[in-house]
Amino acid sequence: MEKTIALIPGDGIGPDVVAEAVKVLDAVAKKYGHKWNYRDVIAGGAAIDKFGKPLPQEQLDICLSSDATLLGAVGGPKWDNVAPEIRPEKALLGLRGGMKVFANLRPAVMWPQLKDACPLKDEIVGNGLDILVVRELTGGIYFGERGTSADGKTAWDTEKYSWEEIERIVRLGFQFAQKRQKHLTVVDKANILNSSRLWRKVAEEVHKEYSDVTLDFLYIDNASMQLVRNPRQFDVIATSNMFGDILTDEASQITGSIGMLASASLGDGTGPGLYEPIHGTAPDIAGKDLANPLATILSAAMLLRYSFKLETEAKAIEDAVNAVLNAGWRTGDIAGSKLAEVKAQGKLVGTKKMGELVVEELNK
Ligand code: NAD
Repeated sequence: MEKTIALIPGDGIGPDVVAEAVKVLDAVAKKYGHKWNYRDVIAGGAAIDKFGKPLPQEQLDICLSSDATLLGAVGGPKWDNVAPEIRPEKALLGLRGGMKVFANLRPAVMWPQLKDACPLKDEIVGNGLDILVVRELTGGIYFGERGTSADGKTAWDTEKYSWEEIERIVRLGFQFAQKRQKHLTVVDKANILNSSRLWRKVAEEVHKEYSDVTLDFLYIDNASMQLVRNPRQFDVIATSNMFGDILTDEASQITGSIGMLASASLGDGTGPGLYEPIHGTAPDIAGKDLANPLATILSAAMLLRYSFKLETEAKAIEDAVNAVLNAGWRTGDIAGSKLAEVKAQGKLVGTKKMGELVVEELNK
């Protein structure tokens, strides 16, 4: 297979971790006989420095004309004081909107080898966690009508969803649940919000087509509590943009390290997907060979799975990561409380070495 992949290293540790994911993608190409043509895209702070804006149209166009996009992360203190309309995060909104990727998939997986890094008690997490959050990404209150009164003393934002916007998200939720534990939880605030009542109505209607999946509903406040109280009750969660934003951060925390979590943002399947680790640019460790590249490497696995339908190759990357962890290799963030022990065993590694270890496993 020959495909074009747009690469957005971005800022901070972005370039460090994307470089390792590329090594892994190259190893996959060599092993399975594929060819990837990479196209570099400048976005975020790097683009503000070079072009004066975070996502020039021609950079977005490179993503749109590629088969998939892999992003590191954007932003950092250097651009904290730029004008609001050119802030680095605008690149993320521009990419999501421009690429029409309306569904954000965030698997919150706790690797059994990294159980130590999980802040929850053993009896709560058991042998591990595996939750998939499907978050609506291009609608709701983040995109709704907003305003501030003339006297500056009142401000408002609007949560607005159409049947179609909800349907495509819950449908994806049901489809993923069918391939997993057949359980979908829709998270909302239907006791108060009209828009949430529509989410419920749509979910119940679409459920008729997926009767093998159990559907239930939770209010957002209860869901946030249940995630730390009994996270193993969840399989797939589907929710709105803002609730998803908050819940996915909570879900990522309970799995341990932010350096392990990948994400995919998908549209209707006719355009390219956007793949990125969920972490930011970690300015405190940027350029120091300290960042964990595994979240980006696992994002590359999602890219192969969802955009190129290469399940074997995606699984090979995940198996290689698993083997590296089984062999005891750790970056600082996932060594956690065992840092001294890991160091003494000579298994504490940097960004580059971690990437090389995954490549070595793939080549076995
Ligand atoms: P962050 O995710 O960058 O860092 C939070 C903490 O986690 C830091 O201590 C960092 O060192 C650590 N960390 C993050 N990724 C790591 C990795 N791969 N390996 C090891 N440790 C890792 O979040 P923040 O500090 O809130 O944000 C820093 C900058 O990143 C800000 O400018 C923010 O706007 C931006 N940001 C960008 C994205 C994105 O591009 N998608 C997402 C979140 C934050």
